[in-house]
Amino acid sequence: MTDLKRFYLEQLKARLEYYQEIGIENLSRQVLAILRQGVCADSASQGFSSQFESGQAVKEQPPDFVEVPLTRSMFESNLDQSTHDTNLEEIRKDLGDCRRCKLWPSRNHIVFGSGNPRARLVFVGEGPGADEDMQGLPFVGKAGQLLTKIIESINLSREEVYICNVIKCRPPNNRFPEKDEIAACSPFLVRQLEIIKPKVICCLGAAAAQTLLNTKAPIGALRGRFRDYRGTQLMVTYHPAYLLRNPSAKREVWEDMKKIREALNREDRA
Ligand code: URA
Repeated sequence: MTDLKRFYLEQLKARLEYYQEIGIENLSRQVLAILRQGVCADSASQGFSSQFESGQAVKEQPPDFVEVPLTRSMFESNLDQSTHDTNLEEIRKDLGDCRRCKLWPSRNHIVFGSGNPRARLVFVGEGPGADEDMQGLPFVGKAGQLLTKIIESINLSREEVYICNVIKCRPPNNRFPEKDEIAACSPFLVRQLEIIKPKVICCLGAAAAQTLLNTKAPIGALRGRFRDYRGTQLMVTYHPAYLLRNPSAKREVWEDMKKIREALNREDRA
């Protein structure tokens, strides 16, 4: 086996092990087994080579990460970045020291959103938790750490995407946002999405999905395929906090994330 081939095999093996680490257990058992053989033993590597070259392994269970254009920049818009920053800043200014709903007295920080103002992918969560309220940043607690892994599983970074919430102040005891709170806060989310103009929106959980899609349908009925949000592709998936309680649902989130990656790849090719 050439050094280059060995290098790529090791990279692929590391990537598959990473997916397993975040709970995507059965992604490519067969491919992983082949890679283990391929990296560890020269005699077995012949087996890997022949399956790889015949396309058999790829056909039976495509290792999705292979399709990801690793070198392609996500920052492609012709719009001047500062325009976006300014516009998001204007929205933040309009929000001000917000007292539009009953959540303001108990908050420490308004959690406006963070990430790339020209992101092609925007994640929308429910509302800040304790860590987010303390730091003023979205998804920085345990659920946030899992979200970071989910983002990285499709070869993006937190800096490339934009992350925000339906409501920008922490509800007491992290309860589900109430109707009047969503009514007061969601216009700012809508404006953020209008400015960022992402190619894909990913709603994390029911609050985001039901707010943006204006529906009462349960998350189980909404997740898994693209919906239309004002002309933008919108995918609903489970909230990372739900995944912490129900790790077996990671498999479905992985399926949703693959669809998002494919949609972004399609945009790259268009
Ligand atoms: N959960 C959310 O929905 N949003 C956050 O920012 C953190 C946890």
